[in-house]
Amino acid sequence: MDLQILPLEKLKPHIDDESKLTFGKQFTDRMFVMKYKTGQGWHDARIQPYQPFSLDPAAMVLHYAQEIFEGLKAFRRPDGRIALFRPMDNFRRFNHSARRMCMPEIDEAFMLKSLKELIRLEADWVPRSEGTSLYIRPAMIASEPMLGVRPADEYLCYIIVCPVGAYYKGGLAPVKIWISDHYVRAADGGTGEVKTGGNYAASLLAAREASANGYDQVLWLDAKHKKYVEEVGSMNICFIYDGKLVTSPLAGTILDGITRRSILALAKDLGMEVEQRALSVEEIFSGAESGRLSEAFGTGTAVVVSPVGQFTYLDRTAVLGDGKTTGEVTRKLYDTLTGIQYGRVPDPHGWVDLL
Ligand SMILES: *Cc1c(COP(=O)(O)O)cnc(C)c1O
Repeated sequence: MDLQILPLEKLKPHIDDESKLTFGKQFTDRMFVMKYKTGQGWHDARIQPYQPFSLDPAAMVLHYAQEIFEGLKAFRRPDGRIALFRPMDNFRRFNHSARRMCMPEIDEAFMLKSLKELIRLEADWVPRSEGTSLYIRPAMIASEPMLGVRPADEYLCYIIVCPVGAYYKGGLAPVKIWISDHYVRAADGGTGEVKTGGNYAASLLAAREASANGYDQVLWLDAKHKKYVEEVGSMNICFIYDGKLVTSPLAGTILDGITRRSILALAKDLGMEVEQRALSVEEIFSGAESGRLSEAFGTGTAVVVSPVGQFTYLDRTAVLGDGKTTGEVTRKLYDTLTGIQYGRVPDPHGWVDLL
């Protein structure tokens, strides 16, 4: 398929002070878009000025949430070059999501080529200061106007990008976690392992309750037993238990995070034992008390690693360390992974894709 590049009429003003960058609010001058129609396949791929879509109010995505997305980042390295981190993993996961949601698959290599072209054109938007990056959001929506529950016959696939500020301005800061005894994120046979909008809409109420109680994130338990740890907010979760790295298994209800995968590999590189197994709430409390549980952290593209200082479940609270200091292993893994992304340390796994 050809990729058409449309001219830009005018440029948006840049944010010169990179300490003022936020997350997900300001987008760049251009976007990638392509269309799909049953019988015709993907067509009309283009990089065009960033602009709103004109969608019919009956567009199926607006009613039945046939939608998927991805999230990855581009990093500016000390030599000025731009690096993507494991981008093909994201496009493979995009197709995995597409299959589950009865949406058409994309050509992964073509998507990567188009993304690179978009970033080359938008290179000026990739910020330069410590901890900043360009966040990349591929998405696909059912655009066919039709009321009726069935897979749509028309789709839009697009990529938008936005410069984002450093997440940890004052260094890694542990968060307080609320373990939900009521709400669940995903059940067996559902869409927990898919990056689809509905999962996030369904998570809002629990997050709002956690926040109203003074907590930063929700920890989700499994839907069947309400006993085993699954994810935290929209991140995977890792524990340092008996000196091993323990994380929930990929059993269909949690997302197969690329940060999770990377952290598991780096932990092995450090000589740590890695266990993918269900960890119970009870183990969090007994482990925190006995000291067997020394650290915990969430993992995801946006934050990389988010250390946990405290867990609360019903009337019980477990504090890790003093609740305010990031653990040694968490810090080491964070430094190594961000080091690879920004090109400060070697990349033994070949995760970095330079533009
Ligand atoms: C995106 C996401 C993650 C993290 O995945 P990464 O590939 O590491 O960014 C974890 N859990 C959920 C629910 C997610 O949506």
